[in-house]
Amino acid sequence: MFGMREVMTVLGPVPADQLGVTLTHEHLIIDLCRITRDASQVLNDVPLAVDELGYFSRAGGRTVVEVTNRGLGRDPRALAEIARETGQHIVMGCGWYREPFYDRSISEGTTNEIADEMVRDIEEGVDDTGIRAGIIGEIGADLHFVSPAEERVLRAAARAHKRTGVTITTHGVRSPVGLAQLDLLEDEGVDLRHVVVGHCDLYPHPDFHAAVARRGAFVQFDTIGRGFFEWDIRQRLDWVMRLIDLGFMHQILLSHDVCMKPHLRAYGGQGYDYVLTGFVPRLRQAGLSDEQVRTLTVDNPRRALTGEVA
Ligand SMILES: [Zn+2]
Repeated sequence: MFGMREVMTVLGPVPADQLGVTLTHEHLIIDLCRITRDASQVLNDVPLAVDELGYFSRAGGRTVVEVTNRGLGRDPRALAEIARETGQHIVMGCGWYREPFYDRSISEGTTNEIADEMVRDIEEGVDDTGIRAGIIGEIGADLHFVSPAEERVLRAAARAHKRTGVTITTHGVRSPVGLAQLDLLEDEGVDLRHVVVGHCDLYPHPDFHAAVARRGAFVQFDTIGRGFFEWDIRQRLDWVMRLIDLGFMHQILLSHDVCMKPHLRAYGGQGYDYVLTGFVPRLRQAGLSDEQVRTLTVDNPRRALTGEVA
């Protein structure tokens, strides 16, 4: 089941060796505004998404993991249209985000029923679209602990993973809650090498990054280029280099988590290409070889998606 040779995209399965340069945590169509009431936190424009992804394509990008899931405004048909228009491989998420975004089905159903819904999205497709998810997530914790409802969704994600082999990707910010999420997944019998801990760069403590890596999970620095401040970039460079020095080269993932209008190039943001056009040159300056850059941008994302173990 693990080490799958194909990855499911919104246009169907793609051989793993054709994924190429991959961003592992992005949003193309999303509605955070529904809960946050912040009008900038909605992306719902297919032609604009096509334009914005064009920068990534021209920079050499090939695949985007789109982790918008239930309660976040996921739109499988829009993602399929964006994939057709851009030629990009788009891997879609499933499951539920974090508690403020849940609906009543989380309280009304059993944990196994929540898992069944994820498995249906993965094996049959979302609702009546036939468009299938290729990753479980982003599965979140709203605060610095996993709430009871979030624990049920996380355990459901673990069970869906064990039934399908599909990787789990998480959300947690401003705390080491990622470690508590790993504890619960491990308790369900998940091999943590098939888990991506998201937003590690939003908890600026290298000890936390190393602790996640030591558990075997992927450490995802996925808000790279946000705001474009030199301090933010230097910190992230430093964290990547530290993990490499500690021997965790094969567990690092890089992405932008574009999820608001101000993140788009059209509105002055860094868009979907900063990792390639801004951050990779800085990694090279810091001493990384072409082969190491390829590990970070191609091989690690491919292994994260297929479950192939380094
Ligand atoms: Zn997130």
